[in-house]
Parts: sequence; C-alpha cells; structure tokens
Amino acid sequence: MGGSFALRGDICWSKSAAELSCVKDGYLVCENGVSRGVFEELPAGLEGIEVIDRRGRLVVPGLVDLHLHAPQYGFRGLGMDLELLDWLDTHTFPEEGRYADLGYAERAYQVFADDLLHSATTRAVVFGTIHVEPTLRLMDLLEETGLKTFVGKVNMDRNSPDYLRERSAKASLSDTRLWLGRVGERGYENTLPILTPRFTPSCTDELMAGLGQLREELRLPLQSHLSENLSEVEWVRELCPWSSCYGQTYERFGHLSGDVPSVMAHCNYCPEEEIEILKGSGCFIAHCPQSNTMLSSGIAPIRDYLERGMNVGLGTDIAGGASLSLFRAMADAVGVSKLRWRCVDETLRPLSTSEAFYLATAGGGSFFGKVGSFDQGFEFDALVLDDSALRTTLECSLEERLERYVYLEAEGGRICDKFVAGRRLQI
Ligand SMILES: [Zn+2]
Repeated sequence: MGGSFALRGDICWSKSAAELSCVKDGYLVCENGVSRGVFEELPAGLEGIEVIDRRGRLVVPGLVDLHLHAPQYGFRGLGMDLELLDWLDTHTFPEEGRYADLGYAERAYQVFADDLLHSATTRAVVFGTIHVEPTLRLMDLLEETGLKTFVGKVNMDRNSPDYLRERSAKASLSDTRLWLGRVGERGYENTLPILTPRFTPSCTDELMAGLGQLREELRLPLQSHLSENLSEVEWVRELCPWSSCYGQTYERFGHLSGDVPSVMAHCNYCPEEEIEILKGSGCFIAHCPQSNTMLSSGIAPIRDYLERGMNVGLGTDIAGGASLSLFRAMADAVGVSKLRWRCVDETLRPLSTSEAFYLATAGGGSFFGKVGSFDQGFEFDALVLDDSALRTTLECSLEERLERYVYLEAEGGRICDKFVAGRRLQI
C-alpha cells in the first residue's frame, strides 16, 4: 500500500475510450495507494500533504501490457522472416527450450525484468515456459521490481518438439499444481499466477479439460492465443473437428466463463459466433499490432470490438513484436487500423491516438481491477514523462503534447518517475 501525496504536473487520462481528460498544472492526489482524483487546486483539508512538484512534465496512467512472452525477450528483433507456425518451429521453440537450464533462464529473465522495470509498463500479463523452477525464478525477479504482473507456466503436451513438450496431460497438470503450490508458499505481493495453455494446437483436449477444472477449483485467470493466423485457425479446425469455431475449443473446457477473466491474444479472425462467446464471457482481447504486422498475421477489427462494448487492451507480444514500448504499440494500433479501414473494411473507422491511449491504460488496466485511470478510486499507477527533448516551435496543447509523445517517444522521451499502486519504483 502506497502513501499519501499529490503529484503536480500536466495531467492526461482517459475517462472512456471516447473521452480524454487533460488538466494543465493540476494535482493528482494519492491516498493510501489509490487515486482521489485530479484537481486544479489542492482540495481543502489537503494543504499540508506532500507535493511532488513535476510542473512542465506530463503525468499519465501507467501502461498495461496484456500479452508478452518473457522467454522470447532475448531474440526480439531477430527472425522476422516467417509466419506464425514456421516462426514458432524455427525461432521460438528452440529458444524456449533453453529455459530448461535454470542458469540460462536466470540470466535472461534478469535482463527482461530489468528492462520491463525501466519501460513505461506498470502492469503486464506474461507467458513463461513449461518449466516450473525457471518460471518461479521469473516471478521472483518480477516481484522484486514492484511491477504488478500475472505470470503463467505454459502448458504444452502435443505438436511441439520433444525438448519442449510435457510428457502427457497428466504430467502437465501435475507440474502446474506443483508450480501453483510453490507460488503459494512464496506469498508474492505483486506477482500472481495465471493458467497458460499455449494455444489449442499445443494442448490435447484432456489437458484443456484438466486446466478448466483447475480454473474452476482455484478461480484462476487464464491466458492464451486465439485466431491469430489463418493457417492456425485451419489447423485448429482439423485438430478439434467437434468445434464450430476456434473460440469453442477454450469455451467448452470452461476457460472463458466464470467470474475471473481470461485474456486472449490477437483475435484477428473471429467469426460472429466466436465474438459472441468472447463478449458473453467478458474475455479481454489483447491487441498486438506490431506482432500481427511482423508475422504477417492480420489486423484485428478493434473498432468493432469497442463498439460492441468488449474488453480490449494492448500487448507487445514480445517477440512477435520487437518493441517493449507500449507507446510504439499505441502508434502501431492507430496505423494498422487505418490500413484495415482503407484496404479491408471501410465501415470500421480507424482508431484515434486517444483511443489507442485508452487501450493501453484503462482498457487493459481493467483486467487488474480498478486500474488505468486517475478517476477517484483507481489504483495509483502513474508515469511522469519529460517531453522537453521532443523539440518544436509550435505551441502545443496538452493533448497534442501527449500525441507527440506517443509517436516520438523513441526520439528523446524520458520517464522521470514511475508509480505502481502509490509506490514509487526505483528506475
Ligand atoms: Zn503471444
């Protein structure tokens, strides 16, 4: 639980996908780790509160990465020559296989955790590998950062190389229980477990059924991939001839229903039935535009999902996406939505920058509860950003400064402070 203070600066946050709020030289008040709201002047009764003076800097909610793979961090920016299924066989599985070696995992996860701490991300939903001890080590390292994360030990018992396949559904489930037991013993404050069947092609029906039981028994969230690539969708049809759509291969085993949410990455090719399943279950969609571009996967109809009132956030999908930056993900989300509008379906308007900002803050944040906004009662996750090196002779409004930061972050944007649940992280 964080303390009580006010952050003074130029404050921007989303009220909704459609509404961006901006207060120049305002006060964002934190009480016991929770936002009390944004004020033009300090409210009566708070005159004596500690004020962290960041005048002239941008203050925005912490960013939420709904989908990335920690063990793929080492080869990001490499192997962008293939589509999904060949990319997995050629680049991804060999690298994930190396994480059987705890020493290798330790070194690689240290780099990942350190870089994530210094990024604009405050919360993330993360894939590990099938390996129990290395995944626990990843969780230990993330716990130390103070970031809030969900981390999953991956389940895979078919269609994977010998070195990265669990022996049977039973063995996979028993390792998952072992992992969950160890997580319980460690008593993490910031790091929570999430069930993680890699995707339907990697998991037998028996394993999927067992994970569904585990989810019901322990009320655990779940993450996976859905309708990312056309060959993958076709393969699932062959593997599960009983299903009428890919989404059903999760729904049938209880992976989407219940009062604890799930998150499905991509959702580029969902038929109407699948969209209804996702919407009805409150499932979160992790939109990963850079990955979808680099693996030539496709473009998700995010405008449609937003208009239907579905839960949508952004993911970097390291290492399908090369960049850990959610500002880059926002810019890419806007860019691909424009290409989709022009080349695929002119009935779906492109996303605006402020809508992409919403997806990276409150949109994905709600997977974690009241997260991603500065409205009263939200957990106090905040970034202080220095945009002074992004020089221009124009007089920009606060909204325009935020827009420039989204597109130009890599050319001199700087994170000055990072708060998670009211606690200032050491960056
Ligand atoms: Zn992924």
